[in-house]
Amino acid sequence: MEYIVLDLEWDSAYFVPEKRFINQILQIGAVKLDDDFRVVDTFERTVKSAISKRVTGRFSALTGITNEDMRNGVPLYTAVKEYNEWVGENAVTMTWSDSDLYTVLENERCLLKGVRFKIENYLDLQTFIQNEMRIRGFEINSQISLSAAATTLQVTLDGYDMHTAKDDSLVCAKLLKKCYNKERFEALIKNTGETKLFDRLSFKPIYVNDINSKLIDKSYLEFCCDVCNNRLIRKSKWNYKNRWFVARFECLDCKKKFLCRVSVRQNYDSTTVKRKLSEFKKKTVKNEEKKDELQPMSSKM
Ligand SMILES: [Zn+2]
Repeated sequence: MEYIVLDLEWDSAYFVPEKRFINQILQIGAVKLDDDFRVVDTFERTVKSAISKRVTGRFSALTGITNEDMRNGVPLYTAVKEYNEWVGENAVTMTWSDSDLYTVLENERCLLKGVRFKIENYLDLQTFIQNEMRIRGFEINSQISLSAAATTLQVTLDGYDMHTAKDDSLVCAKLLKKCYNKERFEALIKNTGETKLFDRLSFKPIYVNDINSKLIDKSYLEFCCDVCNNRLIRKSKWNYKNRWFVARFECLDCKKKFLCRVSVRQNYDSTTVKRKLSEFKKKTVKNEEKKDELQPMSSKM
């Protein structure tokens, strides 16, 4: 099996048709690895922007790509076609975190008009490496950068230009070689067609804002006292604000008052429910919450 480490460099640019800034891909870099994760080939194309005449200073400082480099590049369309030919069949494509995939999707939609990156099987290398680092006893709380992971794992960065697409890919390959575990690695590979990975990534979650929605199971709206474990009685209407339903509850036994919060998010093929129970203290409630949340229940409810 062949492995590709793909690394994109992108810059913010104003996209007139949508009146907003998008992350346009300005460099595609990749390395091709064999079964032993030895580098067998490399790919690099700098892209000539179709929507801006210059790169941002920040981008240029980070990547070393100048306005001139960008203007001498190839159209994104050409770069992707050449990349797809280079990738070959059935490779496993890896990126450092799936944020590159969001950029891929945005560029396909806004700038590529039907041309798509060939990514048949996908693995998020950041997730894999972070798991392996945890197993080796490193404490990792947030998403770690590629260079931080390399430093922690004592993979030398000497001679590499970090934030150039090709060298980032080469560093990824070294980390992979250092941390590889066949079973855990293969478990993370996703067939993008079967798992509908790109549909999932482009799906925008919806927060349910109607308390009577079928997506809200009655059990989501029931809470128990954190002192006596009795079911709480609701004392106000449910109010919806900032993705949360909020209502005031009370325990009939100990008379403790609570604010209960429920948030229900509809994902691609699942529902995420978040619930919070907090003690209700009158003076800590902000004025606007008072107005919004504390409407007494009507006798019908
Ligand atoms: Zn109680």
